[in-house]
Amino acid sequence: MSRPEERPRLADVFPEIAAEIVRLLRKDDASLAETVHELRYYGHCLCRPGCQAVLTAPAGSAGTAVCQLEDDGEYMIWLSLDPAGNTITDVEAWGDPPWSQSTDQ
Ligand SMILES: [Zn+2]
Repeated sequence: MSRPEERPRLADVFPEIAAEIVRLLRKDDASLAETVHELRYYGHCLCRPGCQAVLTAPAGSAGTAVCQLEDDGEYMIWLSLDPAGNTITDVEAWGDPPWSQSTDQ
């Protein structure tokens, strides 16, 4: 496995989503919002066929906490957090997330 700093940043791969997460997260968890620009992109979640999540931590890092971000925009975003609740481990979006075009349906 390559080291985390060799991974692309989520903010570089999906700038729109990263910006949207920061914008929505600032309303309820500003300290978590601060971490978004440092998140790395670990590829699509392969937990089940058609899963719309992308990983921002190695697979299996997620705890049970989920942070739901909702907006009147075109998509809704769910963030999974690690067991300590201070790291976003994956990002799942419904609606028309920018990465939906690249998944096999
Ligand atoms: Zn998944």
